[in-house]
Amino acid sequence: MRITALAGGVGGARFLRGLLAAAPNATVTVIGNIGDDMTMHGLRICPDLDTVMYTLGGGIHEEQGWGRTEETFGVADELKAYGVGPDWFTLGDKDIATHLVRTQMLGAGYPLSEVTEALCTRWELPVRLLPSTDDRVETHVVVDDAEAPGGRRAVHFQEYWVRMHAPDARAIVSVGVESAKPAPGVLEAIAEADVIVLPPSNPVVSIGTILDIPGIRRAVADAAAPVVGLSPIVGGGPVRGMADKVLAAVGVEVSAAAVAEHYGADLLDGWLVDADADTGAVARVEAAGIACRAVPLMMSSPQATQAMAQAALDLAAELAAAKAAAARTATGSASD
Ligand code: GDP
Ligand code: CA
Repeated sequence: MRITALAGGVGGARFLRGLLAAAPNATVTVIGNIGDDMTMHGLRICPDLDTVMYTLGGGIHEEQGWGRTEETFGVADELKAYGVGPDWFTLGDKDIATHLVRTQMLGAGYPLSEVTEALCTRWELPVRLLPSTDDRVETHVVVDDAEAPGGRRAVHFQEYWVRMHAPDARAIVSVGVESAKPAPGVLEAIAEADVIVLPPSNPVVSIGTILDIPGIRRAVADAAAPVVGLSPIVGGGPVRGMADKVLAAVGVEVSAAAVAEHYGADLLDGWLVDADADTGAVARVEAAGIACRAVPLMMSSPQATQAMAQAALDLAAELAAAKAAAARTATGSASD
């Protein structure tokens, strides 16, 4: 079975671990978000790709959910001694090695997809990790700022989230997205998949950014495989992070049902909502033309996460079987 998943950082990576446990024999391709990427101290940093790589490669700081295990901060301490900021973003020494390799390879002319493949080789990753694009696309967030002309200013997503702790957002801008192209292998992985999964990653600044790269949303919508997503919103709020703020910025209600409607029935075939908090959302999602099931959606343990992934695969299998039966009926009646 070929599974293709779109993924952000921490939420996506945790879910992917459960997916690999649920489908140990599957060939899994992960299309990663690059909208959070930035350059700092001359280093190119890809937080979401690295979170997936470290998590699936066994190098993640488990409690934190991002960054390296047993990390040290010698470089950060020295920078502080020099008075060199920014003080809101600390890079660990081990993490810096990843960014050095990436920056050096990019500088030598390799596209991000090849750089990512090279980095992942070291980690013997059990999936193929593809950046959604080799082009530079950066998520910026428009926030209120009384001192700025017009009372608003746009900041890089990392500054919005890490330095500002996600104040109310007015708009989300994907800088450079219009001219970006899907990275090599992305459209093929979508077209050739048996199942397409949207993990409970941020629907705006993770999965939304991937889908907005010209060609990707259409490829997912047109794919032969069933597309099943899991709600990152449980009981009217994000489990962690700032999905509530960025959903509000794009005019979407913060609920499990509204996120499904936002993706839309042209994209999604199936949707999972949380059984404890959101069974009431099932009828509304189904009314939008999307098959919906309520199952436990908290990634509180590896077992719970595996069960979530299994539920997504079960729903996909059910949808594929229904589609095949409908096709048989159609051809049957045509030959009658
Ligand atoms: P990021 O790039 O590190 O922000 O990670 P993602 O975009 O991949 O995932 C962030 C989303 O994961 C947030 O919107 C959370 O609500 C969601 N999330 C995190 N943990 C859980 C969980 O246990 N269950 C569900 N359903 N969603 C979760
Ligand atoms: Ca992210």
